Amino acid sequence: MGNGFDIRLETLVNPGAPALDAVATGRGAGIPADVAGRGTFFLETFGCQMNEHDSEKVAGLLVARGYQQVETAEAASLILYNTCSIREKAAQKVFSRLGEYRGLNTGEKKIAVLGCVAQQEGEDIFTRAPWVSLVCGSASYRKLPQLLAQVEAGEQRVAGLDNDTDETFETEITRRDNPWRAYITIIEGCDKACAYCVVPFTRGPERSRDSARILQELKQLADFGYSEVQFLGQTVNSYLDPSPSKMKFSELLIEAAAVPGIRRVRFTTSHPRDFSPDIIAAMDADPAICNHVHLPVQSGSTRVLREMQRTYSRAEYLEKIALIRSAKRRTAITTDVIVGFPGETTADFDETLSLLDEVTYDGVFSFKYSPRPNTPASSLADAVSEEEKSRRLALLQEKQRAIQSGTLQSLLGERFEVHVDGKSKKENAWYGHSSCNRVVSFTSVNPQLLGEYVQVSISGCTANSLLGEHIL
Ligand code: SF4
Repeated sequence: MGNGFDIRLETLVNPGAPALDAVATGRGAGIPADVAGRGTFFLETFGCQMNEHDSEKVAGLLVARGYQQVETAEAASLILYNTCSIREKAAQKVFSRLGEYRGLNTGEKKIAVLGCVAQQEGEDIFTRAPWVSLVCGSASYRKLPQLLAQVEAGEQRVAGLDNDTDETFETEITRRDNPWRAYITIIEGCDKACAYCVVPFTRGPERSRDSARILQELKQLADFGYSEVQFLGQTVNSYLDPSPSKMKFSELLIEAAAVPGIRRVRFTTSHPRDFSPDIIAAMDADPAICNHVHLPVQSGSTRVLREMQRTYSRAEYLEKIALIRSAKRRTAITTDVIVGFPGETTADFDETLSLLDEVTYDGVFSFKYSPRPNTPASSLADAVSEEEKSRRLALLQEKQRAIQSGTLQSLLGERFEVHVDGKSKKENAWYGHSSCNRVVSFTSVNPQLLGEYVQVSISGCTANSLLGEHIL
């Protein structure tokens, strides 16, 4: 369910910060004159923050090659479609979109399919959609410069589909859309092999980036004027520094928080098994490390967790929650839940409901189970009917709504530091994020607050967000 945590990038107003301009266009990044004016590209992205950030890197790479980004597929000489296979019938939806792109193709345009569906469907895409020139899975992005060169040279079917690599995707320029919050991928792929998940197949094995390189990128972002960074990884806290310094994840957080100009350091998504006390110690030591943890549980039943191959029991998960609750600051906890996993009984589901009561999450992203190709769970008999899955999902969401409402009410009268992300349509009204990643809407007589950090006193709430007034 949607929960008021986080906002859509499209809603942001670009204040015209010179920093963004420089990063976006690659100005000052030394684009060689001989590649300038290579063509135009349109990049459409579906999926998670990892996909969004991959697209930012791909866009940076194209800008560095002399391409110019345009707003519509019609205006582009190269159309790239970064796909996600989390959604049900993902491949079907991708082929239908590719059909629309075909209608635009006058023979001049090149079309590329990137991301998880590219990896999943592979070269079959060329058979079903022969107007596609390039298919590249996420684990092969490091090869994109060579693959693009082949497409530019006129090759018809270019593919990057290996997913067994220990290399990460590094770019000289990243074309970021958000002028304040920058994503940095610190670990790619996943080794956890949850029974329902395609990620280990589509994104390859876990491989971490060199800590010095991450911190160098972060310092550069701070110089550009970014004040908030979000470390990304499918299992971000499983980070293992490959460099001789062997920096731990918690040490990386502390180093990042100490970079001058950086006010907030976030990280997502954490895996419960690797959530260790030193992460909480780091959050306690430096308040610049945000007090929000996204810790997917998936089910409250140990039996189902075992079937899902989640590597922890309900009791072990609750120990991690107790650890987070022991932090000095009240830390927001959000989670993901799957209902109707094959074999989930009503008793199992009741355990998930009781877990919600026990943890009192600040937000829950909940989904009905549906099988994904190439996953171990896809061969399990799907014992739970669609109707029953929908009933369970509705029950779970109703319970979570009540829990969230109680939590938000309990925050009335408190004060939050809010980063101002945008101006509302109403007069004197603004919105932004707290460190714990709550959306806060507030009023202020100040005519210009965009991008600033302000103190807000909370006086009300909606179902998903807090309302308040700017403390002057
Ligand atoms: S931890 Fe499990 S759910 Fe998360 S990306 Fe890895 S395999 Fe998928």
